[in-house]
Amino acid sequence: MKKADLSESLRKIGIKAGDRLLVHSSFKSLDYEGTPTEVCLCLMDAVTDDGLLMMVTHSYNFINRKGFGPYNKDVSPVQIGIIPETFRQMDGVLRSLHPTHSVAAWGKYAQEFIAGHEKFEAAGEGTPYYRFARAEGKILMIGCDLEACTMVHEAEWEAQVPYLDIHFDAEWGREALYYDDNGELIRIDYKNIPGCSHGFVNCQPGLTDAGCLNKISLNKETSYLADASCLLNYLVKRLREYPYVLLERERADCYQCMEAFKRRDIL
Ligand SMILES: [Zn+2]
Repeated sequence: MKKADLSESLRKIGIKAGDRLLVHSSFKSLDYEGTPTEVCLCLMDAVTDDGLLMMVTHSYNFINRKGFGPYNKDVSPVQIGIIPETFRQMDGVLRSLHPTHSVAAWGKYAQEFIAGHEKFEAAGEGTPYYRFARAEGKILMIGCDLEACTMVHEAEWEAQVPYLDIHFDAEWGREALYYDDNGELIRIDYKNIPGCSHGFVNCQPGLTDAGCLNKISLNKETSYLADASCLLNYLVKRLREYPYVLLERERADCYQCMEAFKRRDIL
């Protein structure tokens, strides 16, 4: 697809000037004849600088993770795809100081959305996700499904699921280092770490039926568009009834799933 096709597709699915848009993406899925920079520009054009474009820019700079030093928002590479890695380096884009689960934002109120993220855990009150869900935001998943959707972790936080403190990779540790805006190195210890997303798709049919999530087409691959507040409210309610609905009992390869169910079975 070309830039004009993408712009037209975004218009067709209802993305417009002033929108607040959180994007998860697979560049490959777009089969795009151009650069990731163009895709970002296209998304910026769609929401305009009256709106807000936000992307997850997780870098996972945990203290015990081999090969990963302190987090530096200007340098630390994004671990989840070329579109956010490109976006965070573009003019006018701001990135939060959270050393493991940062976000980048552009547009109106971008600074307000990312401010102070590092002082809180990855999700929950005080984070960009919490704010975004309360600002009539839309979540666009380009060529990916709910498994990529970080707002689901926000729902886990707000529902206070019983496995929040189980790390997805215990060897990485809970501590992280980051450089603040004055270049000072700060050490922080997070009690809870968001992790597994293996079971997120379990909630996809329910979210669709509730009208919070819509399957859309930008090109050949399936994409999704969600109303952030609707998605969050539905999931918080569901997690309060079934706290383990987002985990998978049979995932022997997942430390968090296994530990969470072990703990539940003991109780
Ligand atoms: Zn898992």
